[in-house]
Amino acid sequence: MPLEDANVNISTHALNYGTGCFEGIRAYWNGETEQLYILKGLEHYKRFVNSCRILKITCPYTAEELLAYTKQILEKNNYREDVYIRPLAFKAARVIKVTLSGLRDEVAIFTVAMGDYVKTEGLSAVVSNWQRIADNIIPSRAKVTGAYINAALANDAATADGYDEALMLSVDGQLSEASSSNFFMVRDNVLITTPVTSDILEGVTRRAVIQLAKDLGIAYDVRPIDRTELYIADEIFLAGTGAQIASITSVDRRQVGTGETGPITRQLQELYYRAVRGMDERYADWVTPVYA
Ligand code: PMP
Repeated sequence: MPLEDANVNISTHALNYGTGCFEGIRAYWNGETEQLYILKGLEHYKRFVNSCRILKITCPYTAEELLAYTKQILEKNNYREDVYIRPLAFKAARVIKVTLSGLRDEVAIFTVAMGDYVKTEGLSAVVSNWQRIADNIIPSRAKVTGAYINAALANDAATADGYDEALMLSVDGQLSEASSSNFFMVRDNVLITTPVTSDILEGVTRRAVIQLAKDLGIAYDVRPIDRTELYIADEIFLAGTGAQIASITSVDRRQVGTGETGPITRQLQELYYRAVRGMDERYADWVTPVYA
């Protein structure tokens, strides 16, 4: 149906209490092959189904079925440009009761053409004084709609203070992730990211970057990261569907490394941007072509 007609009532549970979960998926247009590629659709939908389980939302479709529907939506819209895909599952009941049980659920998917990209080079970041929600406060590994208040508070404060991004510490004071992307740094040629138990969203791009690092022979480590490591890192970048691979060149107004996008970040970016547009055979299984 037209997006304008896909509405909910103001008494919808999810609108009042934030009881929904969602995904953010990209489809990349390749003008040379005239093909639109859904990036890591199945991985996103597996996380979506898991988010539903955590929130006790009944999702009557498998990840494979959701991907097939997504392909149909893109095909019907006949997109010839990059697209953002937003699956959403939510407590649709019009009930005033704070619970997760006994409520009717709905699942929807909408798509929008993707305009200009977010900045991917030379971002300035600040360590936010908003802490990242812990798993036993609001599940951080589920992509919960209501939880994005946490990200919005951190991002809004960072922007108001003149920074591009907020880096968030977990309640134990160690690095968690950025407001809507995962964190990577390079120290002494080793790529380092935080473990899935650092109250992060288990990012699809994070896993992709780790795979690229392995394939490129870059040493990597997954371990807790302290705040002061940010001040001595050689390179820092963020990884996410929206952010893609975005270099951070200052943290708390301190220059990171040389102040330019570093060589390991650059190497990963180049390979990533080829893979997502179906331009590298080795990563053919990352993408689902939309058109026959
Ligand atoms: N963390 C948060 C809080 C996010 O919202 C996102 C974006 N979905 C990410 C990390 C990155 O995840 P992904 O690579 O799967 O997009």
